[in-house]
Amino acid sequence: MSYPENFQGFAVVEDHKNWLKPEKVVYPAKNFNSRDVDIEIEACGVCGSDVHCANGNWGNMKLPLVVGHEIIGKVVRLGDECDTGLKLGDRVGVGAQVSSCLDCSRCSSDNEQYCPKFVTTYSQPYFEDGYVSQGGYASHVRVHEHFVLPIPEALETKNAAPLLCGGATVFSPLKRNGCGPGQKVGIVGIGGIGHMGILLAKAMGAEVYAISRSHAKEEAATELGADHYIATEDEGWETKYFDTLDSIVLCGNSLTGIDFNKLPKILKVNGKLTSISVPAQHESLKLHPMQLLGYNITQSALASRAELIEMLNLVADNNIKLWVETLPISQENIGQAFERMESGDVRFRFTFTDFDKQFGEFKAKN
Ligand SMILES: [Zn+2]
Ligand SMILES: [Zn+2]
Repeated sequence: MSYPENFQGFAVVEDHKNWLKPEKVVYPAKNFNSRDVDIEIEACGVCGSDVHCANGNWGNMKLPLVVGHEIIGKVVRLGDECDTGLKLGDRVGVGAQVSSCLDCSRCSSDNEQYCPKFVTTYSQPYFEDGYVSQGGYASHVRVHEHFVLPIPEALETKNAAPLLCGGATVFSPLKRNGCGPGQKVGIVGIGGIGHMGILLAKAMGAEVYAISRSHAKEEAATELGADHYIATEDEGWETKYFDTLDSIVLCGNSLTGIDFNKLPKILKVNGKLTSISVPAQHESLKLHPMQLLGYNITQSALASRAELIEMLNLVADNNIKLWVETLPISQENIGQAFERMESGDVRFRFTFTDFDKQFGEFKAKN
């Protein structure tokens, strides 16, 4: 059997201003190493980062750029030294990280997402040879097995995809902040990631407070299982909920609307406020030291392999249903999904499907 050395994907070409019209391009795969896995892609979630990177919000990227880092597919090739138990034909997932040194103290303590040699799934050069990673709106992806996750059988593909970046990113701080029975946990921003935050925090046993600017998402939050709803446009919410929560995760894609004079007041002393938001480049966090009085603020990124596996099993075991809209992958649908993501017109996440229809012909020839 021969294996493709080139992959095909939908890429932003020439200029970020073309981001809503990605074109099909063929590009070389990275070198195949002894612990690499080739995956034929079957579905891919649409993450906020895809939008930020495609439209240039996070700065200029090397083009052509294939985004997508919530990849589900099947294993079609395994390197000679693979030893995580994967088999040909297995359904697997890849999130937003494809490499790290796997040797430093961080990598050795389930913190590989904080390794200085972290490589993101698309748009970043590998340290070994400078090959720039390309993402999952494509026929295939080639990834070191450490970053390839087994997908529990009970999980539907369309539900599993958004967990690989969005779900993992909110699960890690929930877990590290002790989310569980007896804990009161706030989720700020009820969108793609926030909706997964509510579902996961409930499944972990916490009492969940959904926090949003207006009341527009109150019904959805209740349906998702939130026990309480706080609308920050209401007068006096910070007094009503003073000293209530053990931890909060900020899930919105901007920090502009967060009032750091009020939000921390609803935390208990030593409560934790974790942001997972990566806003546009021009935004930064400016705080007076007294605004930090009595609480901890931190920024979290992605999740370790161990956390990803734990989360996928939690979702499968509890039969958690994400709110996902599927779209067959195509130039038109990528543009449409991006526009609707930008305007918040999705409840709450997209997964692209039908990869065979777009890439079948290419795969048959390669
Ligand atoms: Zn993402
Ligand atoms: Zn490392």
